[in-house]
Amino acid sequence: MTDMHNRELGLQMDEPLIFNRGAPGRRAFIPSPCDVPEVEAEKLIPPDLIREDVDGFPEVSQVELVRHFTRLSQWNMGIDTAFYPLGSCTMKYNPKVNEEAAALHGFSELHPCVDQRDAQGILRLMLELERCLCEISGMSRVALQPAAGAQGELTAMLMIRAYHAGRGDTRRRVILPDSSHGTNPASTALCGYEAETIPSDRRGLVDTAVLRKRLGPDVAALMLTNPNTLGLFERDILEINRLAHEAGTLVHCDGANLNAIVGVCRPGDMGFDTIQFNPHKTFSTPHGGGGPGAGPTGVSETLVPYLPVPTVEMDDGQLRLEYNRPHTIGRVRSFYGNVGVMVRAYAYILALGSEGIRRVAEAAVINANYLLQRLEAKYPPKYGRPCMHEFVLDDSKLAPFGVSTLDVAKRLIDYGFHPPTIYFPLIVSGALMVEPTETETRETLDSFAKALEAIAQEAQKDPEILHQAPHLTRLSRLDETRAARKPILRWTPGLSPSGNDK
Ligand SMILES: *Cc1c(COP(=O)(O)O)cnc(C)c1O
Repeated sequence: MTDMHNRELGLQMDEPLIFNRGAPGRRAFIPSPCDVPEVEAEKLIPPDLIREDVDGFPEVSQVELVRHFTRLSQWNMGIDTAFYPLGSCTMKYNPKVNEEAAALHGFSELHPCVDQRDAQGILRLMLELERCLCEISGMSRVALQPAAGAQGELTAMLMIRAYHAGRGDTRRRVILPDSSHGTNPASTALCGYEAETIPSDRRGLVDTAVLRKRLGPDVAALMLTNPNTLGLFERDILEINRLAHEAGTLVHCDGANLNAIVGVCRPGDMGFDTIQFNPHKTFSTPHGGGGPGAGPTGVSETLVPYLPVPTVEMDDGQLRLEYNRPHTIGRVRSFYGNVGVMVRAYAYILALGSEGIRRVAEAAVINANYLLQRLEAKYPPKYGRPCMHEFVLDDSKLAPFGVSTLDVAKRLIDYGFHPPTIYFPLIVSGALMVEPTETETRETLDSFAKALEAIAQEAQKDPEILHQAPHLTRLSRLDETRAARKPILRWTPGLSPSGNDK
């Protein structure tokens, strides 16, 4: 069957660019006649900014338009279509009621410049969300503005720097475990600090003996993820935080893995000074492809003066944004922040309540341990059991057959699963990092385990199948380097989708 046939039958295996559809003069929409005097564009717009006709610009009918974008949307892989066990990213199911809440006109149509007296509803939601996050994390206050987890890390580092500077202290180093997420050293560097990694011990945890030696009067902060990116709870966390504080070092908790402990224990009680939340992970906002998200950042009492502005305050029942905070690090985000993510997080937290929130963590941990014990015979975990909400397998049983972690990940696509995170953390050879999340059923976990077992069989019997995978997608193995280094991001007349001139 030709491509054309496929298209006519409605199969979405191929879809041309919209530039290759349509015919001259065809329209999807006819605007009603203009009822205000037409002004010549040249009078309003500088001539050099007026675009000439574009050669080959698409002219399509409404049905062509609708089919084009509907077909493209069907190529999309998401949590609503399949299991998505992307380690560290917490791709869990997002209840649709949160979308309805975020779409309520009072929130979605609210203008960011509206008078605060007319924005009492959203300010109330922000204040209450802040209180929920304080209660969940054990911190004193939470800044809601940061636009992503990574920006929350940076906000925390800026506050820590302001705290030290306020004491006339010129500390410069930040210590991170070698398993840490790439955003940790990046935030450290953006803040003007020097990132320094410490090796994980045999357990995959922070080695307190090594840490003790590295701490000193020059260390501004320690940045830890708990549970860490190997899916392991830092058992010595109380001791670690005590050692750091004794050295005058503050400790940031990368809270991206909060869904493993939420409602069970609190980073504030563990002694952390700051934490960033990733509400799009823990509190359910559909995310991926770079957005949308937020990075609310909690602080202990000591750091409250440094919070970014504005904060939400209440006087005599009236809510307002406070900009007058003498020690603030300033603004980190325009207007109110990513309000849609806040509304979803608030709706999710209230819908679950404290009991439900606790069950999130319990189910996340049980699901991960169930899957790990099903897989460990064929895919050895680097650090044994039990794990928290995710686990990391290595490639030691694949390598002898010349099969790589990438081959396994690509083959999983043929079995209908989104591949897990691969080659991270860097300290595990050929890492395959699986986070099943709390929202999956046992049947889904079983079918995923079966797929990975079948792939392990294939690796022994017919590794070539894996090298060539995926077989069932529209395009097979892509040149990932070229895709990353030389992406073709815009259509140019005469250039075919593959990048070659027609
Ligand atoms: C996702 C993640 C981050 C970064 O969060 P973003 O919201 O994507 O900026 C940081 N640390 C860890 C461990 C993460 O999983």
